[in-house]
Amino acid sequence: MQPLAHAHDSHDAGSCRHAHEHQEHAAEALARAERVCRERGLRLTPIRRQALEALHADHKPVGAYDLADRISPPGGRRLAPISIYRALDFLVEQGFVHRLSSRNAYIACLHGHGADEVVAFLICEACGGVDEDSSPAMRKAVAAIAQGRQFSPSHQVVEIVGRCDHCRSAATHD
Ligand SMILES: [Zn+2]
Ligand SMILES: [Zn+2]
Ligand SMILES: [Zn+2]
Repeated sequence: MQPLAHAHDSHDAGSCRHAHEHQEHAAEALARAERVCRERGLRLTPIRRQALEALHADHKPVGAYDLADRISPPGGRRLAPISIYRALDFLVEQGFVHRLSSRNAYIACLHGHGADEVVAFLICEACGGVDEDSSPAMRKAVAAIAQGRQFSPSHQVVEIVGRCDHCRSAATHD
């Protein structure tokens, strides 16, 4: 008898928990970005919007050049890297997107984190998905380290690389 297939067996792109989370929450996060732009008197220009949509369409971090390929019109001219970087800078400044330093890549935020919030990224090496977490205790600890060195932080990132819950349990079922 064939063993019953369950969620962990399908491991192709787009099937992991991270992909589902992004599919589920992308529309809501985009709506939030639009609302925040209106409130702050900022413009979500077509290129900013396209970049944000393209990042929300993927649950893995995407590099700037890869993103340029995804949002350039098919058969048309490829968007200039400077335009992409400007759009990404805007999205990061507003807290809609996070930059993962270790990957030199970007991921859409599903949580409405502020740009100055300390976020821990849990990056899965198996499925490529990224989970985000933050806590007052972590914020305090990171602030205390910076203050102790009289260091003025402009960007605070905690990146943890390993295996997510989903991929860990998939491995034990193999
Ligand atoms: Zn976030
Ligand atoms: Zn994983
Ligand atoms: Zn995943």
